[in-house]
Amino acid sequence: MSRFWSPFVKDLVPYVPGEQPKLQKLTKLNTNENPYGPSSAVLAAIQDGLNDDLRRYPDPNSEQLKTAIAEYHGVDIAQVFVGNGSDEVLAHIFHGLFQHGKPLLFPDITYSFYPVYCGLYDIPYEAIPLDAAFQIRVNDYTGMKGGIIFPNPNAPTGCFLPLAEIERLLAVNTETVVVIDEAYVDFGGESAISLVSRYPNLLVTQTLSKSRSLAGLRVGFAVGHPDLIEALERIKNSFNSYPLDRLAQRGAVASFADQPYFEQCQAAVIAEREALVRGLAELDFEVLPSLANFVFCRHRSRDAAELAAGLREDGIIVRHFKQARIEQYLRISIGRPAESAVLFESLKRLL
Ligand code: PMP
Repeated sequence: MSRFWSPFVKDLVPYVPGEQPKLQKLTKLNTNENPYGPSSAVLAAIQDGLNDDLRRYPDPNSEQLKTAIAEYHGVDIAQVFVGNGSDEVLAHIFHGLFQHGKPLLFPDITYSFYPVYCGLYDIPYEAIPLDAAFQIRVNDYTGMKGGIIFPNPNAPTGCFLPLAEIERLLAVNTETVVVIDEAYVDFGGESAISLVSRYPNLLVTQTLSKSRSLAGLRVGFAVGHPDLIEALERIKNSFNSYPLDRLAQRGAVASFADQPYFEQCQAAVIAEREALVRGLAELDFEVLPSLANFVFCRHRSRDAAELAAGLREDGIIVRHFKQARIEQYLRISIGRPAESAVLFESLKRLL
């Protein structure tokens, strides 16, 4: 800390991202990346973009990418906003779409970035406890509020809230922006994008980081009413419109064009999730029902921090949150079958 810091910066509590180790040997099951590489069509498109054009600025509107997303999801291009990862899209949403002065509502146990953004943008919030089964109870999201946001499936639980429940929430919350963060929706969930044409206050965010294996490229997007999208564009353009770079735009467009590869990876991750759930249950873990590319589980007799440390000694990284109610849980990203085998071998040794 320096005396040159403003009181605002002194008070900031920044987000702590999951560890990104340098050692390639590690079995990395801690940050929900896709265990399979990007589509070869994406790599070819990026290679193709490595040319003299890089001296030119990219398209500030990412028009081709927005068109690809709009076509893929059956919406109008005016309903699409893109950013450098969905975290940046969320930053713009927190900056400009939640009403200051009234609390933003999100679940207690959710993506830990939300309270960080609230601190950054000076937004009061209320964290609403999940029910006994770790599910979101939509009836609790009432009263005076400046907005509602939650991931679906939720993170780090993996629990999915059916669209009928989201519609129930939207039916009674017509005057506040409702954001559904669908970072993990492609692993068995159902997208609320199908609802955006009926609910002008609904905004859905997605990312290419998980189901499209492009966490390193940083591409995310939001779909909603053109008025909400216009607000996000205004905010983005007030930051000198830092657009997606040329390679990210190209790679992302190519990803939407390769549906067979997307479906192949999706099916492989889902199949491996089911295998992991069965194996963990056999080792006396209680596993929450997950429709994400990770599982959230608790061993019935062993301490989670000790298990995480033991796995780490065996070169396996999983996520352990030191947070009330979930300190006995581990979040394990879905890897390749060979990575699950390494995990099980270590767990059998530790248990
Ligand atoms: N939302 C949720 C719930 C997440 O877990 C993540 C990944 N940490 C993100 C958004 C952001 O992902 P990205 O910025 O890579 O799109």
